[in-house]
Amino acid sequence: MSNLPTFEEALQGMQGMMEKLPEMAPPTDMPPEERVRRATDVFMGSVGARFATYMESCIHCGHCAQACHYYRTTPDPKYTPIHKLELFRRTYRREAGPFRWLYKLFTKPVTADELEQWQELVFDSCSMCGRCSMICPMGIDIATMVHHARGALDAAGLTPPEIRAIAAEQAGQDTVFGASADKLREVVAMLKEEEGIEIPLDRDRADILVLTSGLDIMMNPRGILATAKVLNHLGVDWTLRSDGFESINFGAQTGNEEVHADIARRRIDTAVKVGASTVLLCECGHTYTALRWAEFLQDEPLPFKVMYISEFLGREVQEGRLELTADGGTVTFHDPCKTGRVGGIFEEPRAVLEAMGDEVREPSTHHQANYCCGGGGAVFLLQRAASLRAGVYRLKMDQFERTGADALVTACGSCRLNFVGAAQMSGWNKPVESLVERAAAHLPAGEGDGHEPWRRPGK
Ligand code: SF4
Ligand code: SF4
Repeated sequence: MSNLPTFEEALQGMQGMMEKLPEMAPPTDMPPEERVRRATDVFMGSVGARFATYMESCIHCGHCAQACHYYRTTPDPKYTPIHKLELFRRTYRREAGPFRWLYKLFTKPVTADELEQWQELVFDSCSMCGRCSMICPMGIDIATMVHHARGALDAAGLTPPEIRAIAAEQAGQDTVFGASADKLREVVAMLKEEEGIEIPLDRDRADILVLTSGLDIMMNPRGILATAKVLNHLGVDWTLRSDGFESINFGAQTGNEEVHADIARRRIDTAVKVGASTVLLCECGHTYTALRWAEFLQDEPLPFKVMYISEFLGREVQEGRLELTADGGTVTFHDPCKTGRVGGIFEEPRAVLEAMGDEVREPSTHHQANYCCGGGGAVFLLQRAASLRAGVYRLKMDQFERTGADALVTACGSCRLNFVGAAQMSGWNKPVESLVERAAAHLPAGEGDGHEPWRRPGK
């Protein structure tokens, strides 16, 4: 049995640090007119032909409202997805729309106060989950537009302080939650000493470069342990590099494309240096979209394959290289939005669960239609978004309870953090498990990680 703290214990240890984030945010004072100028420049810089079409094509059908978990659980009209873009639509119409001369006569220019008000709409109440984009009959990609709206507010110094604190840390020191190279080495040494697991750190060449996360390093080394157990069991040629290990990309969360591209570039450089044919991403959903399509940031194809851990595990199972012990129970799998709806990784995690003998019970909306956990897009960091998250949590738990499953499994640390945090507050006591940790606990005899998996009652 492992002595490492459980995810639930570790989360309680992280609460204090998360509460201090607002104090750690760098100041972003600037005159109001400067805020407006910066936001306008960045937003208009992102408007090409496709976005201009989006701005012009809404037929006000209202379908997107019903798709959004924040609207469904409030239901406050200000959380209607397309409304979250209204300020930016006004900017577009006044600055570049075909009737800009008319709009300039009849609409007011955007003000710094309005930008500040919109912070809640594009950060707190939009996880960029893409559910509304999927359902819009006009094909308007609202989630991507919100991403650019976030970028405009970020340029205007209006990213919420919790997110700004971590984004500044990553842009400056390339660390997240203080997870430095030294801290990674410490965790690797601890896992060797306490758990007896060899992690091939800093190999010069390797076929698979694994990217972990500040969340796993600082809070949940069980995630790193489980990944190492499975990879060592499979006998693959892999490494974790202390000069490029972080998969989290806060540029993708703030909409700051420069930071997004810079962090992605650093990871690409490390992968090229070790000659990796595959970059394997740990359980943190947004990391998949942040790197998988980074070729669009650099205008050249990535020289390696990007695989998410649930996708990798599923392929290994499907192709017969990974066999797991089958003593499972009944589970519901929560698809992280970025790997599921955006990335199309649905069958692979379910194949892993089935290989463990788990009966997967789908909630009333699942696969592409799955609701976000409520904390994606870094919403889980925002203290003032707690009641919005709680509403979504109730919706999710209601769906989950109706399946009658014994446990909830997911493949994203921040989805898990969101569920476990809310469960601790509400007293809900069913397990919220990580897919890779569950798989590691079901390796053939003698190779599990010592973590005792839950069992179907009566087994
Ligand atoms: S679903 Fe699309 S067309 Fe309908 S209101 Fe929303 S953005 Fe407009
Ligand atoms: S992307 Fe998701 S959270 Fe954002 S408005 Fe659309 S449905 Fe709501």
